[in-house]
Amino acid sequence: MAGLAKASMDWRRLAHNVETLAGLTAAPQMAMIKADAYGHGLVPAARIAAEAGAARFGVATLREAWRLRRLPDLSRVPVMAFMYTPDQPGLAETIGAGAEIGISSVPQLEAVAAAAERAGRAARVHLKADTGISRGGVVEAEWEAYGEAAAKHRAAGAIEVVGAWSHLACADEIGHPAGDEQKAAFERFLAAVAAAGLEPEVRHLANSAALISDPETHYDLVRPGIALYGYNPVPEIAVDLRPVMELRGHVMTVKRLPAGTGISYGHTHHLERDSNVALVPLGYADGIPRIASGSAEVYLAGRRRPILGRICMDQFVVDLGDELVKPGEPVILIGAGDQHPDADDWSAWAGTIPNEILTGIGDRVPRYWNRGLH
Ligand SMILES: *Cc1c(COP(=O)(O)O)cnc(C)c1O
Repeated sequence: MAGLAKASMDWRRLAHNVETLAGLTAAPQMAMIKADAYGHGLVPAARIAAEAGAARFGVATLREAWRLRRLPDLSRVPVMAFMYTPDQPGLAETIGAGAEIGISSVPQLEAVAAAAERAGRAARVHLKADTGISRGGVVEAEWEAYGEAAAKHRAAGAIEVVGAWSHLACADEIGHPAGDEQKAAFERFLAAVAAAGLEPEVRHLANSAALISDPETHYDLVRPGIALYGYNPVPEIAVDLRPVMELRGHVMTVKRLPAGTGISYGHTHHLERDSNVALVPLGYADGIPRIASGSAEVYLAGRRRPILGRICMDQFVVDLGDELVKPGEPVILIGAGDQHPDADDWSAWAGTIPNEILTGIGDRVPRYWNRGLH
């Protein structure tokens, strides 16, 4: 008996996407597998991406880096973590485990140098500049002081400077003026780093969108995230990417209701005619966005069918018209077939991006990889 729902990942598609992206650039890839590999599963995604050629991993939290560092088969693949507070427990242990650390501010640099002393091991760091996204990274007015502080800690043996990096704000909009401004600012940052006597091994700037749309951003390393999972953030440029995840549920009950019946909370939908409806036990607690109520469709019994009324916490109702299906009938919410909805469709229905759809799939949905790795 099938469970209520499952997310199935096809490792061949992830490997295909890594290889397709490798065909677009000479730069090695830091596979961005933060947020549990965008909801796909951190460890299997890491193994497959590395086998397919990814040279490094990028994660957000120290915990994710720590988990990867504990896998002996992946110990040769560097991992960088970059979201942490200066006083965060585990910083010294993560450095001690050999993870690389992204630095987003001068106080963070100081905290990492102090943690490295506690760890008894130089921290391998990537110095981040804010070149215009106004999020993490050191602003231009502080680059000189940042470089000097890094040079001092390097001389003391507390850090090794592995990388110099930044992040782009508007790479998914081809020709956006912020792109040229950020590239120029990144060049000035690299000059400031060199002026401080630092020689980072890798300079990196490009996310998926920049990897696909702008070779000038590739430098020594590219950082694809969403493209690895099969979604192209720059649809104007055709790239053969394949969705890695299929999300399916199953019909729980079917019933016939008369014309005029109000469906789900608030009765936002009334049946126009007598209809069969199917109940599917997945809801916004599983990451099916409630805001997509009224527009979303699923693939059920050979074609797309609308969700009727509000998507609830654990369930939604699908219009079957006069057709009948049996309880247990599969319902594809995210698939790779021509007629299947995918995470791009859900992001259009929900006014978001596929990244949010994929990372939002809840942990009531078990993940399976077709290689038995999970
Ligand atoms: C998430 C992230 C990426 C990957 O972004 P995508 O748009 O998913 O390719 C790259 N770099 C940094 C710093 C990130 O946080």
